[in-house]
Amino acid sequence: MSDDLQRRIEEQKAEIDRLTRRISELETDSNVPSVAKVEQPVDVTPIDQADVTLRRLVQRIAMILQAEKIVIMFHEREMGDLKGIPPAFGIDEAHLSSFRVRATHGISGKVFREGEPMIYQDIETIPEAREEPFGLMHVTNGVCVPLIIEKRDEENRVVERNVIGVLHAFNKKHSEDFNDEDVRLLERMAKNVGSIIANLQMYRELEGEKEELAQTFESLTAGLLLVSTERRILQINATARAIFSCPDESIGKNLDEIVKDAAFISAIDKTLTGEEIGKVETHVTIGTVERIYESQFASVLGQDGKGIGVVAILADVTEIRNIDRMKSSFVAMASHELRTPLTAIKGFSSTLLEGLDDELYGIEDQREFLGIVVGECDRLRRLIDDLLNTSRIEAGESLKPNYTHVDIRTLLDKVQKVQQQATTKHIIKLDVKGELPKQMVGDEDKLDQILTNLLNNAIKYAPNGGDVLIHAKVDGEFLEVGVRDQGLGIPKDHLTKVFERFHRVNNEDNRKIYGTGLGLFLVKHLVQEVHFGKIWVESELGKGSDFIFRIPTNIDIEEAKRRSD
Ligand code: ADP
Repeated sequence: MSDDLQRRIEEQKAEIDRLTRRISELETDSNVPSVAKVEQPVDVTPIDQADVTLRRLVQRIAMILQAEKIVIMFHEREMGDLKGIPPAFGIDEAHLSSFRVRATHGISGKVFREGEPMIYQDIETIPEAREEPFGLMHVTNGVCVPLIIEKRDEENRVVERNVIGVLHAFNKKHSEDFNDEDVRLLERMAKNVGSIIANLQMYRELEGEKEELAQTFESLTAGLLLVSTERRILQINATARAIFSCPDESIGKNLDEIVKDAAFISAIDKTLTGEEIGKVETHVTIGTVERIYESQFASVLGQDGKGIGVVAILADVTEIRNIDRMKSSFVAMASHELRTPLTAIKGFSSTLLEGLDDELYGIEDQREFLGIVVGECDRLRRLIDDLLNTSRIEAGESLKPNYTHVDIRTLLDKVQKVQQQATTKHIIKLDVKGELPKQMVGDEDKLDQILTNLLNNAIKYAPNGGDVLIHAKVDGEFLEVGVRDQGLGIPKDHLTKVFERFHRVNNEDNRKIYGTGLGLFLVKHLVQEVHFGKIWVESELGKGSDFIFRIPTNIDIEEAKRRSD
């Protein structure tokens, strides 16, 4: 063996050692759980080092083999292609893209499939070469070896062998030929190239997964916080940052710096020491609204079973809590609403009964008492209907519309008359602008129910009386009807909420006015889902409210049926 070759082999051995060290460094690095990695101060990422190492290795191969050009071709599994990838030597990397061949074709394909090296002195004599752009690249001769990665067991026996691509050396310098020695050298170096590429690949995949995970965390609607055993923030997503109103750069900071909620901190500390803890509630005001978060805590263990820290998930339970609260006040209300008419019915009917024998009450009294009994029965029936309809809507069932052609003016007149009889304190007026539709498609009973409900409320929530105005007009393809009172009015922050089920405004003046908070919820459903319109309220506290709804006038029965299904 010539001295020159000996020297080259020594050089290569040193390189291989260095590489092996580098590769094992790289491997241990990728095992670190991705979240914990955030903390490590890294100047040069391993990916850059591996890139540099690979580039140097390719240069070294060109030098040792005295080759003009070196090209790595990687097998793209999805496409089934072998494709030139950087780094290359002696070839402009912009030209690398022209190195692409089906894995079944060309010299590259043959070496890849058979897993055996190939050496050729005159490219013109190799038919497969014509399937690759070697002519364009002025290739005359070359060596091609498979890029192999081997998995070994503890005793260093090869347990798995994968060909991931091929390695080309083209054009021996000084008009010489490539020889078997070159093939052996290239094969040895191909192993290093192969393992670096495989590691880079794995690293990129891990990076990708890590990125995806971070994105998922970040966009979770629940808050997520990960704290290390040293009580440092390892991960905190956007929701959690908003909850604790802490800066975007909170990672790495001490828990106490970021979170001020004592109960929450104590829960984390307890979880760190292995104590079981229940759920913790955190109340925060984001903007102007108060939100309630319920946190759950769990220890996070690394692959070795040791504790890495604690994860806290904060779920927004504001709505659930509100509904809970409203449901309990609803139960109180509903019991009252049921008891009141029952008491009246019982009271007046037993009075009548007692008076029967002695003919205590004259016909006028009897008429009055029975009138009250009938009225209270109606009230009971309405309440029960409301309850049933609400539970139907909640179960996703429709309220079974019965569409006909409705004369709106006649309907408004009727509702006004009926409601006027129910009050002496209020004057109900009707203000109609222009002509109203005489044949509008709608469910007459349900339109009646909408208006009756709004008028009932106008009377109920104007305990001191005043005018109630029903105003109606046609606006383009819509019918617009409003019920305006001069009553208590509604605070601004309740203007949309009053349409939610069970929602009642609770203030001094309202407290004595009983109700279930279901009326407007049902009205909204009847306007939106049965009549495809919308409803809103304009109000000034202490001055009065105007409930207005708009429904389309140009829908025929067929379309209404189709849309309400
Ligand atoms: P209920 O009257 O049974 O409480 P509603 O759903 O009809 O239920 O109304 C919900 C809440 O909206 C009422 O509790 C009341 O606070 C408010 N509200 C409804 N109509 C009026 C009105 N005309 N004026 C003032 N407040 C109203």
